[in-house]
Amino acid sequence: MSTDAVSTRALIIGSGFSGLGMGIALKKQGVDFLILEKADEIGGTWRDNTYPGCACDIPSHMYSFSFEPKADWTHMWSFQPEIFDYLKGVADKHGLRRHIRFGAHVDRAHWDEAESRWHVFDATGQEYVAQFLISGAGGLHIPSIPEIPGRDQFGGVAFHSAQWNHEVDIRGKRVAVIGTGASAIQIVPAIVDDVAELQLYQRTPAWVMPRPNNAFPQWMRTVFTRVPGVRALLRAGIYWIHEGVGFAMTQQPRLLKIGELMGKWNINRSIKDPELRRKLTPDYRAGCKRILNSDTYYRGIANPKTTVVTERIERMTPGGFVTADGAEHPVDVVIWATGFHVTDSYTYVDIKGADGEDLVDRWNAEGMAAHRGITVAGMPNLFFLLGPNTALGHNSVVFMIESQIRYVAQAIAAVDQAGAAALAPTRRAQDEYNADLQRHLAGTVFSTGGCHSWYMDAHGVNRTLWSGMTWQYWLATRSFKPSEYSFIRQRESVRS
Ligand code: NAP
Repeated sequence: MSTDAVSTRALIIGSGFSGLGMGIALKKQGVDFLILEKADEIGGTWRDNTYPGCACDIPSHMYSFSFEPKADWTHMWSFQPEIFDYLKGVADKHGLRRHIRFGAHVDRAHWDEAESRWHVFDATGQEYVAQFLISGAGGLHIPSIPEIPGRDQFGGVAFHSAQWNHEVDIRGKRVAVIGTGASAIQIVPAIVDDVAELQLYQRTPAWVMPRPNNAFPQWMRTVFTRVPGVRALLRAGIYWIHEGVGFAMTQQPRLLKIGELMGKWNINRSIKDPELRRKLTPDYRAGCKRILNSDTYYRGIANPKTTVVTERIERMTPGGFVTADGAEHPVDVVIWATGFHVTDSYTYVDIKGADGEDLVDRWNAEGMAAHRGITVAGMPNLFFLLGPNTALGHNSVVFMIESQIRYVAQAIAAVDQAGAAALAPTRRAQDEYNADLQRHLAGTVFSTGGCHSWYMDAHGVNRTLWSGMTWQYWLATRSFKPSEYSFIRQRESVRS
């Protein structure tokens, strides 16, 4: 340990919903901690994504901390500035800022067995030492831009949806949006009126459900604020409706045909051209990829300024795109709404656990897997929030994060109670848990729905989504089970 290393008991990576929630829990528990944040502000994905139209596709009364309700959300599905403000308010209220090191981009960490401590380094070389290391980095923060031949020759402006360049004036420009995922469907209607021409490059159409998102009238917000129980009732209602969708996705995929009828209705009410309707209608089961919701996306497409390009992009030229049919598409601005490095996100941080074992090598060889999505055999005192197989296709991930935070807090208490230095799940417990998880996933729409999605890794194994409903995950993580763990005293090996 260098003389200027910073020591604390727990290090948390990231200050989004996960990192902030974890910080609040550790504060309550009296565990000294530091949050390492790569940027100069808190907020995670809700700080980074500032694209026009950015909003949450889960209702805000559910997509918020259960212990920090906000009665006066302006919309059912709030826009990014309001969610970002909410998180800043939570950080301030709980006095978290003095626990945060901004500009600290973690790029490596190793477990020192003799000391039973993690040594963590940020990109500037600053060292941090802690007994516990908790990643709240999530899986949707490393932009993915396709390697299209000629991309570096493009003479216009190009940026990723999560790195929106607000210096660029898109008014009157020929703009290309690449991708038709959750980000793109919000961007298209938000910019179509401003641009001269909008080319939307679609590889796979999404199922998009209707979503009326008018602002809550003031009287309703007053009721949520003043009448006891109403807001909580709304939250419970939202929760169980989404769990109903989760039931269909994970137990009875055939029921999702009902959603497809709604999706088709949504297309038909805005799009009159039968050929365009055909292009926009998915040929896979709804839910196989993330189900999206918007009342404005198809209207944006119906705008005469919009062209949907379904031919494969072959290459880029200084002036734009050339598609597989040989057509040239001149553009001034390219917006890559092409998603994130998800199933390989772990390769961006170098983590070495017990006996110097490299987590990247392990997961490259075996696939990304953790015990209950949180802890990893051979990696003492390392915890993941929104780790392997804990993302969702149907409900609020904040619910999952809260379950995990509770579990991590219990694990830390268990180490202390046992008078140990560290813990790691046994290989057996982790393997049994994951075998069971993969068995359940095999029958879900994510596996059977007939699509290619970012839920799957390079080997076609779902390493990202939870296999059931969220209350089942809550049950699975509600109480920490010491019997699933090896407890480690200093200088002991953790292999089991
Ligand atoms: P995404 O869902 O991964 O969508 C990326 C899009 O880019 C897809 O349509 C994909 O087509 C397309 N694409 C990728 N490479 C391409 C290529 N070489 N040529 C043409 N098209 C290409 O990414 P996202 O829209 O940023 O959303 C990512 C996730 O973030 C979401 O699933 C969601 O979990 C989260 N998100 C949430 C919200 C919210 O409201 N809560 C909003 C935005 C994002 P294919 O489908 O063919 O692969």
